[in-house]
Amino acid sequence: MILVTGGAGYIGSHVNKELNKQGYETVVLDNLSYGHDDFVKWGILERVDLSNTREIRRIFQDYCLEAVMHFAAFTYVGESVQDPQKYYLNNLRNTLNLLESMLEFDVEKLVFSSTCATYGNPTEIPITEEHPQKPINPYGKGKHMVEQILTDYSSAYGLRCASLRYFNAAGADPEGELGERHDPETHLIPLVLDAASGKREDIKIFGTDYPTDDGTCIRDYIHVTDLADAHIKALKYLEDGGKSDVFNLGNGNGFSVKEVIEEARKVTGRKIKATETDRRPGDPPILVGSSKKAREILKWQPKYDELTRIIKTAWEWHERD
Ligand code: UDP
Repeated sequence: MILVTGGAGYIGSHVNKELNKQGYETVVLDNLSYGHDDFVKWGILERVDLSNTREIRRIFQDYCLEAVMHFAAFTYVGESVQDPQKYYLNNLRNTLNLLESMLEFDVEKLVFSSTCATYGNPTEIPITEEHPQKPINPYGKGKHMVEQILTDYSSAYGLRCASLRYFNAAGADPEGELGERHDPETHLIPLVLDAASGKREDIKIFGTDYPTDDGTCIRDYIHVTDLADAHIKALKYLEDGGKSDVFNLGNGNGFSVKEVIEEARKVTGRKIKATETDRRPGDPPILVGSSKKAREILKWQPKYDELTRIIKTAWEWHERD
């Protein structure tokens, strides 16, 4: 069985679906603080908080676990600056709790959700895995610390981990069963779609004076189903005896905020009012990742790599949810 922490969340639920589709049995561990129980349509849901070491041990005792996929984390960068303790306790200490049980029960394979936020402000685009890691906020710092801990645990205890550094996860399950439902929502694509459906009056463009062609920030949007597929491939890599390693997961293509809004206008056929406002503090102008390594080593090939398809699946979910 595979333990999927945070499997009721956006990315974790898509991966949980894919695992079950591919014949794995799963147990989802989620405290449902941000996750949704209706996203856990596959496997067993255990409503447990990773601060509770007794309950974690119970899960490891109750189920015969072969591997762990660890998604459970807080993900609001701005909040991590306001309340770093909340982030270090949940994303760092609680990961240590999980690792403690993994060591005790000899579960040696881990797929860890890391992030391009561990790189900080990039000095080179596209960002490769060798790019220096200088995270600029507690969210990115905590994820970077976990990556370093995983390296040490791998050397000392024989743990084998694939740390996956996500770029901008977007889109929704093409079969319409899952999608993005954050509260509060801060991500560009769902907010643009809220403006398209009239749920919000407009989309605010955070900064138009960046050193990019149209002055707005460029990001690498990667479809959540492609992310899910990469997780399965990372798990198989570990099952085949692969050593601990890190992989970027992005498309290698960047789109500006204005391009995303324009594409959303085309996909939805709706008017979308855009209002230009100040920059959001801490946003690097360009984040685009090289996923060459994941393609070569994991044999991963994104299928939904066109922005149109990413927005289309997100829009279909948006209209349904
Ligand atoms: N963005 C924006 N308006 C919004 C939300 C986001 O202009 O209402 C911009 C944001 O500044 C960034 C890009 O859209 O350049 C993607 O932001 P998001 O929060 O989706 O992801 P991030 O790159 O911060 O992880």
